[in-house]
Amino acid sequence: IFAQGYQRGIRELLRSNSKLETEVERDALTGLKNRRGIEPVLTACYQAWQGGKAPLTVALGDIDYFKHINDTFGHEAGDLVLQRLGELFRCKLPTEAKACRWGGEEFLFVLPMDKEEGKAQLEELRREIQSMGLCARNEPIPVTMTFGLVSGEEADGISDLIRLADQNLYAGKRAGRNRVVVL
Ligand code: GH3
Ligand code: MG
Ligand code: MG
Repeated sequence: IFAQGYQRGIRELLRSNSKLETEVERDALTGLKNRRGIEPVLTACYQAWQGGKAPLTVALGDIDYFKHINDTFGHEAGDLVLQRLGELFRCKLPTEAKACRWGGEEFLFVLPMDKEEGKAQLEELRREIQSMGLCARNEPIPVTMTFGLVSGEEADGISDLIRLADQNLYAGKRAGRNRVVVL
């Protein structure tokens, strides 16, 4: 009886351990992978691109004027925006595209497609975001996002991909936001 209880205890520990392993790779608010969760995906996709097995486009997206959304509608409304964006990314992007919550209000997209197709996908997403129609306090919350894109051949390694995507994102912010920017 003691041995059986002991084995059951071990099994339960193993199960809860693997659940924890999944949870540390996921963002609880949006249900998307977090930075830690996307890293192996990014590495695998970069290696596939290097090996000539698949195209690769990486994008960083950032919510426009999110501080203003929080200040105007409350932090809970801001959280709702993040949640709805997570749902939208999961529903609207093709299954081979992976989105993650990169940081507070920034998202990283790993798109195994060329830059033109990646840009078209994100343009579609950008329009969907703009017309999401979220409301709080009986008023529409104006949600838009700006995206910066880069393709595998433009960068010298994974951290350079992120750096260039960020550079394009900020060019989009300076140019007025709510747009998709490629080099
Ligand atoms: P920009 O258009 O230039 O991106 O302006 P911004 O206001 O979106 O950017 P800024 O970096 O000034 O503000 C980001 C805000 O995002 C500040 C922070 O409080 C908010 N934020 C980050 N994480 C969360 C979160 O989990 N929930 C909520 N509600 N807000 C968050
Ligand atoms: Mg930001
Ligand atoms: Mg922002």
